Amino acid sequence: MASKSRWADTAEDAALEAKLKHEKEEKKRIKAEKARKAEQERLEAEATKRQALQDQQQQQQDDRPPAKRRKVTPEPENENSIKLLRFEGGTWSKSRSVENYDKLNDIEEGAYGWVARAKEIKTGKVVALKRLKIDPTDTAGLPETGLREIQILKDCSHRNVVELREVVVGDDTSRIENVFLVLEFLEHDLMSVLSDMPEPFLASEVKTLLLQLASGVEYLHDRWILHRDLKTSNLLLNNRGQLKIADFGMARYVGDPPPAKLTQLVVTLWYRAPELLLGTKTYDSAVDMWSVGCIFGELLAREPLLQGKNEVDELAKIFELCGIPTDESWPGFRRLPNARHLRLPKTGTNTGPIIRARFPMLTTAGCALLSSLLSLDPDRRPTAKEMLQHGFFRQDPKPKHEAMFPTFPSKAGQERRRRRSTPNAPGRGQKAADLGNVDFSGIFASREKEERGAGFSLRMV
Ligand code: ADP
Repeated sequence: MASKSRWADTAEDAALEAKLKHEKEEKKRIKAEKARKAEQERLEAEATKRQALQDQQQQQQDDRPPAKRRKVTPEPENENSIKLLRFEGGTWSKSRSVENYDKLNDIEEGAYGWVARAKEIKTGKVVALKRLKIDPTDTAGLPETGLREIQILKDCSHRNVVELREVVVGDDTSRIENVFLVLEFLEHDLMSVLSDMPEPFLASEVKTLLLQLASGVEYLHDRWILHRDLKTSNLLLNNRGQLKIADFGMARYVGDPPPAKLTQLVVTLWYRAPELLLGTKTYDSAVDMWSVGCIFGELLAREPLLQGKNEVDELAKIFELCGIPTDESWPGFRRLPNARHLRLPKTGTNTGPIIRARFPMLTTAGCALLSSLLSLDPDRRPTAKEMLQHGFFRQDPKPKHEAMFPTFPSKAGQERRRRRSTPNAPGRGQKAADLGNVDFSGIFASREKEERGAGFSLRMV
């Protein structure tokens, strides 16, 4: 076997060395490429995470008082709300125990809510205890409606808004059902009073109630709070003729202009404004004023004004009472998401509002106020401030003095109430109805035969 020359060895070695070097370099390049890719992926993941966090913050922002909302609330109240979000030191367990109260009787017990009359042991003061609701659709387990209710009630202090005294907890503070609002106790809610009273309210009494309602709503709207669930069962009445707005579970702060995307699924169906039913994404305090109009009608008629069976039926009932929308009565309504495909009857003598005919005993001023509150076009509804200035309240019969208001036997004071048959505010996970291609052309067919305004009367003072 021929021995290898040193040259040959060297040449071979050199080739091998070159090959190894090349391989090593290639390995290094692949490794660097891998590292670069990994770094890129890491950066992308970080960016996605940042975006998600920003989205989440935006979402929270949407659901909270905007940082730059006009400062109409005095500073100390804002301080309160910040403290409140931390729940007095960060945990429920820093709150007082519910054991400081003795339950007297249940007031309302339903699928989600529970309200009871109770007595503070130390002082003997009677209060209402309201259990914080669990939000069944919230996977994070946050009782958002309850938290909002606490935050907003803490910020409010007005004679026509129910007072939140404190938040108390049961033994197991990890369970949200063990958190209770301690509210001032009022003997009635307006819905129970209306359904039990043998005779309707006098015109002077209707005025007193409406003035108080408008006053409370003005206070909320001045502070950029939309209630979003005004209805007679959420208006409390005490035996001194005082009305107070309650149930802030659907309420929220809004800015100016209001957030671009607000949930349409607010307000109990019978009190829900037409723009919400037609799927508007932005809305304002006018949605509460529509509900105030519905409450006005209910105080007169002693039954809810627009008892739709579903969203389509609710719209049909609204159009029947308030007339079908036209480009004059509601400019731009066709642009609302659910309005594009509506088939409406041709406008004519028979398709206008019939509020006057439905309430024949109401004065012209009263009818003008009710009609303006029930304007299809939200921009034509009066604000609460404007409502308070309306001539209707200066006309005879004058608003009755609160101290002269009639008293009623209090069901809340003694016995458990029967469950209501009114619908509730929509749940969080619920979907808005799709009203595409709904045909409303037949809703006026029976109008000719209808006995207008039958069944309604107002006692005169
Ligand atoms: P929910 O959010 O479960 O509907 P609400 O706050 O509307 O709870 O209360 C339900 C009912 O409980 C009201 O319609 C009213 O009859 C009664 N209620 C609520 N708060 C009080 C209170 N402070 N005093 C007396 N009764 C109350």
